[in-house]
Amino acid sequence: MIFKWIFLIVFILLVFWLLKRLKPKQKLSYDMPAEIVEDMVRCAYCGVHHPQSESISENGQNFCCTRHQQLHLQH
Ligand SMILES: [Zn+2]
Repeated sequence: MIFKWIFLIVFILLVFWLLKRLKPKQKLSYDMPAEIVEDMVRCAYCGVHHPQSESISENGQNFCCTRHQQLHLQH
C-alpha cells in the first residue's frame, strides 16, 4: 500500500519537472514574432526597407521590385 503512494508522489514530481522544463521553450517562441526575426534589407534604388524574403537580390544588392532592379541597372 505504501509503495502505491510513493509511486504516486514520484509521478507527480516527474510531471511538475517536465512542465517546468517545457515552459521556457514556449515562452521564447512567443517573445520573438516572425516579423522581428526576419532580416530587413534596403532597396539599392529607392532606399525603402523591406523584408529579405520579399526582395530581389542581384550582385549583393537588394531591390524592392523588378522595376527598381531594371532602373538601377540602366544607370
Ligand atoms: Zn525600390
